[in-house]
Amino acid sequence: MSEHLTYDYVIVGAGSAGCVLAGRLSEDPDVSVVLLEAGGSDSNPLIAMPMGEAHLIGSRYDWSFQTEPEARLDDYQFVMPRGRVVGGSSSINGQVYHRGHPRDYDEWHQLGCEGWSFDDVLPYFKRTENWEDGGDEHRGGEGPLETTRGRYDNPLFDAFLSAGEAQGHGRTKDYNGREPAGFSRVQYTHTHRWLRRCSASHAYLRPARHRSNLKVVTTARTTKVLMNGDQAVGVEYIRGGTRREVRAAREVLICAGAYQSPQLLMLSGIGEPDELKAAGITPRHRLPQVGHGLQDHFGSYVQHDCLQPVTLYKYRNPLRFAGALAQFVFTRRGLLTVFPMDAVAHLKSDPALERPDIQIYLFPMAVNPIRDANMLPRSHGFNLHWNVLRPESRGRVSLRDGNPLSAPRIWHNYLAAESDRRLHRASLDLCRSIVADRAFDAFRGRETQPGNACASAAEFEAFTSRMPSSGYHPVGTCRMGHDEDSVVDPQLRVRGLVGLRVVDASVMPRLIGGNTNAPTIMIAEKAADMIKAN
Ligand SMILES: Cc1cc2nc3c(=O)[nH]c(=O)nc-3n(C[C@H](O)[C@H](O)[C@H](O)COP(=O)(O)OP(=O)(O)OC[C@H]3O[C@@H](n4cnc5c(N)ncnc54)[C@H](O)[C@@H]3O)c2cc1C
Repeated sequence: MSEHLTYDYVIVGAGSAGCVLAGRLSEDPDVSVVLLEAGGSDSNPLIAMPMGEAHLIGSRYDWSFQTEPEARLDDYQFVMPRGRVVGGSSSINGQVYHRGHPRDYDEWHQLGCEGWSFDDVLPYFKRTENWEDGGDEHRGGEGPLETTRGRYDNPLFDAFLSAGEAQGHGRTKDYNGREPAGFSRVQYTHTHRWLRRCSASHAYLRPARHRSNLKVVTTARTTKVLMNGDQAVGVEYIRGGTRREVRAAREVLICAGAYQSPQLLMLSGIGEPDELKAAGITPRHRLPQVGHGLQDHFGSYVQHDCLQPVTLYKYRNPLRFAGALAQFVFTRRGLLTVFPMDAVAHLKSDPALERPDIQIYLFPMAVNPIRDANMLPRSHGFNLHWNVLRPESRGRVSLRDGNPLSAPRIWHNYLAAESDRRLHRASLDLCRSIVADRAFDAFRGRETQPGNACASAAEFEAFTSRMPSSGYHPVGTCRMGHDEDSVVDPQLRVRGLVGLRVVDASVMPRLIGGNTNAPTIMIAEKAADMIKAN
């Protein structure tokens, strides 16, 4: 870095959003861009292989943040994975490609996010993707993000889809297209051509790496934003134990994700002054809502023994696993092509609702209770895994102390809102009614979780704290809005400051009714246009 200490744009975090910004902004040869990433390279083959996710969680590619005790879950503390590697969480995620429901973005617009209605964001979703069926009025066929259907067949997926149809929930061919509700197969950010995950790094950074106006610095942990009055002028970072600085001639763009973007703002003196002082940070700019508004998908599982040997348990046999590996390499099909939750339903807890509010996946494998040290299955089983899509509960992120290398403190407050608890319960009942369908007769063994009626609130609570599940979709901690309380405006500029934007999942004002990688990439595509227009 010593040869070039000033760049037009300094981007912090090479995750889903940071890779998009680096790729798009460096398309202009007249601007210079530096991308600082705390983690290392994404060249490990396990990152490319979809099922590698199981090995990446808890590895050196994962921040593994421990949350604070969850009051509604018997003080359970989650270990939350987040990518710590080029590509960020898109390098370790489950690869599900899901935009959410069109009305989610109209709701953002109604909340004061001018320019973020579905009509506004659809062109950006289309620009991002290269859908295997090609482009049409909903889908993009020429973008860098390869999106495909899974290629792993399992009779349990068919049973799930048939049960959905038999119970009148309807089936959709494309939940990212005209019909966002109903039962369907899952879509993935995966390229069958190259037999690999299509992370934001693969899609956006790899094609830009050769550009002389783009510098990517790995193992560089940004510790604060440098300010001159109300103007962001660069960042300080630590690399190899040495403190360094890089200056931004135009803008500093924070893309450190929903836990670490607010942390970095607070470390830079931007937040609630009393909270900053308590952590030993000198307040520079009052923005009380930094770190507030944390939202995530939360759910659990209904689990059954399986009467047929069709579940992933069979792959404990090394010969069968070798067969799956050969199938992956030679035919580009089978278990290893996707993370195998390859059938999904988006359902309404009340038919009068405009949008589905519950998401259910069929997972052809049993999992053990989360507090059990051995999460691997001990017999053939399957589960229906649900998420409550638009929770009302809100958590927060704050500083543990003033040390920039400390992990942030994270409170999710899952199920704090009564409406979330009600939907959580309705999800269990819905899952049970689906498994009770005759389509599952050949497979359905004993219900192992919850395994009892869960008739009383206490029984249900005990089950939930035994089998809690995060969607790993934190958003909302640097909320976008037009009101004074929001952290960034609809141009994603930090309120009251100059030359500083936040561009990542943290700016979402409300969690969308789907998975969060695609919307984060869309946000960064749109931000790149706004930044260029400036
Ligand atoms: C295990 C897992 C499974 C998931 N499954 C899915 C899925 O199937 N489908 C889906 O749509 N979504 C999924 N998600 C969520 C999705 O991947 C994220 O919502 C999305 O990647 C968030 O993008 P981001 O840019 O906000 O943050 P990230 O992609 O997390 O990027 C943040 C980057 O900033 C870096 N960073 C942080 N702090 C600093 C610092 N101080 N200095 C320098 N660099 C820093 C991090 O190392 C990271 O690379 C999953 C997430 C996880 C963790």
